[in-house]
Amino acid sequence: MSQQPYSFFHSVERSFDKAAAFTNFDPGILEQIKACNSVYQMRFPVKLDNGNIEVIEAYRVQHSQHKSPCKGGIRFSDEVNQDEVMALASLMTYKCAIVNVPFGGAKGGIKINPRKYSTYELEKITRRYTAELVKKNFIGPGIDVPAPDYGTGEREMSWIVDTYASLKPGEIDAAGCVTGKPITQGGVRGRKEATGLGVFFGIREVCNMADVMEKQGLTIGVEGKTVIVQGLGNVGYHSAKFFREAGAKVVALAEYEGAIYNAHGLNEEEVFQHRKATGSILNFPGATNLAKNTDALELECDILIPAALENVINGENAPRVKAKIIGEAANGPCTPEADEIFIQKGILCVPDMYLNAGGVTVSYFEWLKNLSHVRYGRMEKRFTENMNTTILGQIESLTGKTVNETDRKLIQHGAEEIDLVHSGLEETMIAATREIVHIWKSNPGIPDMRTAAYVSAINKVATSYAELGIFP
Ligand code: GLU
Repeated sequence: MSQQPYSFFHSVERSFDKAAAFTNFDPGILEQIKACNSVYQMRFPVKLDNGNIEVIEAYRVQHSQHKSPCKGGIRFSDEVNQDEVMALASLMTYKCAIVNVPFGGAKGGIKINPRKYSTYELEKITRRYTAELVKKNFIGPGIDVPAPDYGTGEREMSWIVDTYASLKPGEIDAAGCVTGKPITQGGVRGRKEATGLGVFFGIREVCNMADVMEKQGLTIGVEGKTVIVQGLGNVGYHSAKFFREAGAKVVALAEYEGAIYNAHGLNEEEVFQHRKATGSILNFPGATNLAKNTDALELECDILIPAALENVINGENAPRVKAKIIGEAANGPCTPEADEIFIQKGILCVPDMYLNAGGVTVSYFEWLKNLSHVRYGRMEKRFTENMNTTILGQIESLTGKTVNETDRKLIQHGAEEIDLVHSGLEETMIAATREIVHIWKSNPGIPDMRTAAYVSAINKVATSYAELGIFP
C-alpha cells in the first residue's frame, strides 16, 4: 500500500481538530483559526560568487492577524516548502497565544542549504529577501516581525534590520522590524539562550509536579535525571547546558552526522568545540559512536529533547522510544501517529508549541525594548541599589550584626537587563506549564498534554476573534 506523503500542516490540523472537540466554539470560528491567512511565495535571482545566476525560492506565511504584528522566525534549509512554512506559521499563532505574547503567527523560509553559500552570497540572499518583504508590506514593527530559526541567527537578523532601515528612512521604530538581533543592533540580552532556557524551565516545572512524576515512575526534580539531546544548534546546545548545570546527566548528543553516548555524561561545550575542530560530533574522547543519529532517540533515558527538525519521531520509530518524558524543543518533532503510541506507552510528551516558546517570549521583550528605545533596567537599577544599601544599613545598625560579603552583594544588586529577561521568561514558562496541566487535569477526556495545549490556544485565539467583533 503506498503511503501518503507526510504533510506537516496536515499534522498540525489533525492535532488542532483533536483539541477542538473539547471546546464549544462555532465550527466557522475554528475553521478561520486553522486557516493560513496570507501565503507569499516568491522567487528572486541572486548572482553567485562564480558569476552564475541562481533563482531562489522563498516564503513568508502569515497564519493569523488576530493580533498585530505577526511573529515568527525565518529558516534557511534545503527542506523548506510551502506546507512546512504554513505549519510552522500556525504553530507560532498557538504558541504566542499560550504564553500570552500578543502576536499573530507567521513564518518565513528560504530554500537553501546555508552551508553551500559564501557569507557574501548569504548576505545578498537575505537582503534581497527582506527587500521583497518590504515591497509587499510583509515586514515592519507593526506588521510582521521575523526572527531567527533553523539555519539563521544574529548575523542574518542584522542584515534584515539594516536593509529594512535603509529602505524606510526616518522610521523611528525600524529596529523593531526583526528580533534576535545582536545587542549592538538593538538586540536584548538573553535572546540567544532563550529557547533552550525556556525548554529547561518548562521541563523543570513538570519535573517538580509530584503527581506527574509519580505517574512516570520518576523522582521529583531535574537533578540526577538522564537526558538525551538531538541537535547541537542554538536550541539544543543551550537546552543541554541548562540541564547539565542543574545537575542532570546529558548521556547522548546527536547531530546529523551521527550520535555519541557516554553514561557518565557529556559536556555540550566540549562536544561543540570538538565538532568545530574535527567537523564531526563523532569520535569524541570517552564517548561511544552511534552510526545513525536517530539511534540516539531510541536509547534508555529519563528525558529526550529533540531539538532539530520536524517529523523525527513518527509511527515507525515511536514504538522503540524508551524515554519517560519527551521535551519538544524543535517545532513538530513528533507526529500525531507518535502521539498515539506515547499515550499507549505512558510516555509524557511536553509539546513544542509551548515548550519552545522561550524564543518568541524573549523576542517580545526585545520588540518592547525597541519600541521604548531604552534598555531594561537603565532607569531603576541604581535607584534599587541605593535603596537596598540604605535598608541593609538600617537592619545592620538596628541588629548590631553584619551581613557577609556574598549576601551583601546579592541583597544590594539592582536588576539588569539579563536579570529581568530571565525572570520574565521563567515566570512565563512556569505559568504556561501550570495552565496547560490544569486544563489537562480538569478534563479527564483530554488524552495528552499536546491536546491540552491546543485547547488553551484555541480558547485564547477564539476569544480574541470574538472580542474583535468579527464573529458576532
Ligand atoms: N523561530 C523561533 C520559534 O520557532 C522564534 C520566533 C520568534 O522569536 O519570533 O519559536
